[in-house]
Amino acid sequence: MFKQKQLLLGMAFMLGLTPAMVSAGQEVNLYSARKEKLIKPLLDKFSSRTGIKVNLVTGKADALLKKLQSEGINSPADILLTTDAGRLHRAKSAGVTQPFFSDKLKKAIPSQYRDASGHWYGLSLRARPIMYVKGRVNPSELSTYEALADSKWKRRICIRSSSNIYNQSLIASMISANGEKATENWAKKFVKNFARPPKGGDRDQIKGAASGQCDIAVANTYYLAGMLNSKDKKQRSAANKVAVFWPNQNGRGAHVNVSGAALTKSAKNRHNAVKLIEFLAEPESQLWYAQKNGEYPARPGVKMSSTLLSWGKFKADNLNLVNLGTLNPKAVMLMDRSGWK
Ligand code: FE
Repeated sequence: MFKQKQLLLGMAFMLGLTPAMVSAGQEVNLYSARKEKLIKPLLDKFSSRTGIKVNLVTGKADALLKKLQSEGINSPADILLTTDAGRLHRAKSAGVTQPFFSDKLKKAIPSQYRDASGHWYGLSLRARPIMYVKGRVNPSELSTYEALADSKWKRRICIRSSSNIYNQSLIASMISANGEKATENWAKKFVKNFARPPKGGDRDQIKGAASGQCDIAVANTYYLAGMLNSKDKKQRSAANKVAVFWPNQNGRGAHVNVSGAALTKSAKNRHNAVKLIEFLAEPESQLWYAQKNGEYPARPGVKMSSTLLSWGKFKADNLNLVNLGTLNPKAVMLMDRSGWK
């Protein structure tokens, strides 16, 4: 194999070809829970640089995981790209991933944003702060996620359902920080402050706040970024009514999560797959990838968009995100016992 490659490279050299052209015929198969427009341009860039063709299958995160499980070792997928450390951990637990180590990724991605045993690597950061309606809430009234259980917020909070992985991960981070008992006591009070039974996605919570159904929303910032930069005037005006508050800044920091990549157990193009994941962690990719979706780069020191900068710097909870996965079952049961629909 190695000799063959050397021979090809030698021939290519004589013919004046670039290495990218030599690897023609090589490919990598990607299952992605990220929308095509959020990832395709980067994949094209990877292909033109390396000559490795990327076959992209997009789908919903949970459906892709099921697909991987049912295809088993015969799956054509080499990489699973998905959101939330909770989901990446589920993929690992389901046995559809395999560990790999890369010096490039180890250097690029802080240890709290990747699996210690090499089963997944975070590639972008998503923050889940508190958002409040300007004029109806004074930011001085806000402090921590924990303080949202105070009865002064009765029927004033919009948040999506407990079946949502982002909320499950938030609760997992609270169990890690405060323990299970304290988090359950908190959740029981927090649920009483909901303005309405949970429904819709994160954008709907922001819209609910903007339309006066509630004063506080808990949502990932990239939804707000998307609304602020939307072509739809209604979305822009709703988004402009709310502001971001970074909670727990005097303590552990605001809750963050990742989108990330895993090498599948069935991977037949392992080398190309690792190369692609490493490419996604390069500064240039990080810049584009994070900005395109209003996320934060997972790699430190990469520039941020003006929208992100407008919300200011914040302290992020530096909890190792593997905990979001291991504590997920506890979080789900706790939310259920607390009456969080
Ligand atoms: Fe999302």
